[in-house]
Amino acid sequence: MDALVDSWGREIKSVRVSVTDKCNFRCTYCMPAEGLEWLRRDEVLSFEEIARLVGVLARMGVDEVRLTGGEPLVRRDLPTLVALLAQVDGVRDLSLTTNGVLLDRLAGPLVEAGLRRLNVSLDSLDHVRFAELTRRDALDQVLRGLEEAERHPELRPIKVNCVAIKGFTEEEVPRLAALARRKPYVVRFIECMPLDADEGWRADQVLTGAEIRALIEVEHGPLVELPTKPSSTARRFGFADGGGELGFVNPVSEPFCSTCDRIRVTADGQLRTCLFSRREWDLKTPLRDGSSDDDLAAAIRWAVAHKELKHRINEPGFVRASRSMSQIGG
Ligand code: SAM
Repeated sequence: MDALVDSWGREIKSVRVSVTDKCNFRCTYCMPAEGLEWLRRDEVLSFEEIARLVGVLARMGVDEVRLTGGEPLVRRDLPTLVALLAQVDGVRDLSLTTNGVLLDRLAGPLVEAGLRRLNVSLDSLDHVRFAELTRRDALDQVLRGLEEAERHPELRPIKVNCVAIKGFTEEEVPRLAALARRKPYVVRFIECMPLDADEGWRADQVLTGAEIRALIEVEHGPLVELPTKPSSTARRFGFADGGGELGFVNPVSEPFCSTCDRIRVTADGQLRTCLFSRREWDLKTPLRDGSSDDDLAAAIRWAVAHKELKHRINEPGFVRASRSMSQIGG
């Protein structure tokens, strides 16, 4: 099959597949305390449907698959899906984004199934502040999950992702920078985006990558920028003495839409061509109505032809995405 290229000439190489919209955390910048209205079970794609879809995408050159959610580890038997996807021809990079709370039990089975890369979200290294942000007292459990992941050398790199929020994250920066030096974790700071279900995001809440870098450089001296591939979402930095790596994902202050090679599939089988899309493309119906793989590929191509040029967070009249982060799959 031909490569999957959008109307602006960007080739799609990466898909993020949400396996559930449910989550066991309630991070303030993502989900309301009371949760959201969950999808019905029959609306959520089965493992077989996901594997078929990934197979079609892989034949169009999509070689990077990241499982996400909601919280992907709350989906029962997730290692079974990982094993199915690890066998898909053309999938070169299979990874998972998790809050880590069930990782101590699942890291082993996931590695055995073929998982090779992991992102763990971690916004605070202080118990009280962690609970304040996630509305769950689960820091020790997440740290245990990380320790367990570390025991599997197949699982590298382990990335630790912190959503950066002005007035909160500054205090975490020294502890997280120290973690990057002490542990084999790439610690990355991600600017907070207007994707919270509560619609409370304000531009002045964004603690930028540049601001965090400056805070770290006060203590550790100038950081050294490391090379990245062009489609990378993160700018990578090392400490001057070589120990440890940091990343900055700056979608608000330094948008990287021009090199975006990603699409997303929601847990209910809707293709999204941008985190901030207002429009989704239904793949669940063709997956279930007897359509052929060629039909499915044609539907994907049509959607990708309409991929947005860029998000417009910083523009007047910005209109929020049609769903929030946990419903899309971050
Ligand atoms: N539950 C998993 C986890 O915690 O990694 C996967 C899904 S979660 C939606 C994926 C990532 O999106 C997490 O790192 C989370 O912190 C991030 N996220 C959620 N809301 C966000 C927002 N408004 N801005 C930036 N990142 C956000």
